[in-house]
Amino acid sequence: MLGVPFAALSRDEAIARIGAMVRGTGAHQLVLANAHTLNLAAADPAYRDILRAASLVLRDGVGVAIAARLRGRSLAYNFVGTDFMPLLLARIADPQLGVFLFGAAPGVAAAAGEALRRASPAIAIVGATDGYGDFDAVARQVQASGADVLLVALGNPLQERWIAAHLAELNVRLAVGVGALLDFLAGRVPRAPHWIRALRCEWLYRFCLEPGRLWRRYLVGNAKFLWRVARRARMERR
Ligand code: UDP
Repeated sequence: MLGVPFAALSRDEAIARIGAMVRGTGAHQLVLANAHTLNLAAADPAYRDILRAASLVLRDGVGVAIAARLRGRSLAYNFVGTDFMPLLLARIADPQLGVFLFGAAPGVAAAAGEALRRASPAIAIVGATDGYGDFDAVARQVQASGADVLLVALGNPLQERWIAAHLAELNVRLAVGVGALLDFLAGRVPRAPHWIRALRCEWLYRFCLEPGRLWRRYLVGNAKFLWRVARRARMERR
């Protein structure tokens, strides 16, 4: 989609695929991409190339599902990081498997790690650091921690760029950008109630909490995204 290849996997297929990456060799970047991610990629070829080079790109959000349908494809499962990442970690949890949390305001990553461990005691958190210090120092910290899995919460596009720039030296099996996940886990940002999520309107809830920051991303961004996808589909039909 817009030059970024998505994997059409069910939730369990994705967990199996990622589990194999974590237990295997090599270093993999996982991307959970939403309409905002793809808008950024459409405007920045270098960022798009980072997404293209990722081991796995999964759909996050309704916008990408609608766009897939416009192109006659189906990306049925919605890999919302806030739900999927804790579930994934719980399913692959193993005291031998180290998890490092990087990003968000000071104190948030450590609190998020506590929340993850309360939910799944088998998760081994081997490091946590905020996203407002020396980013190069964090790369060294991750490497020294012996982490296998790295969650990077810096928002798009910073998190994917940082992972791509450092993946080779981090010595992790899997690195994934998780946006505001650590804020949610630490209870700093409330999740939408279940009924709003069931209506697939969590984005609207987040927009109402932070309209000043998010109006451009959601209202302008979603329209722009669907226009881009429709235009691309028209061009390909010609
Ligand atoms: N962030 C950070 N360092 C930065 C910029 C952002 O740690 O230099 C964090 C920010 O505190 C927040 C997360 O990145 O925890 C991204 O939040 P956002 O709501 O933008 O993520 P989204 O889910 O919308 O991608």
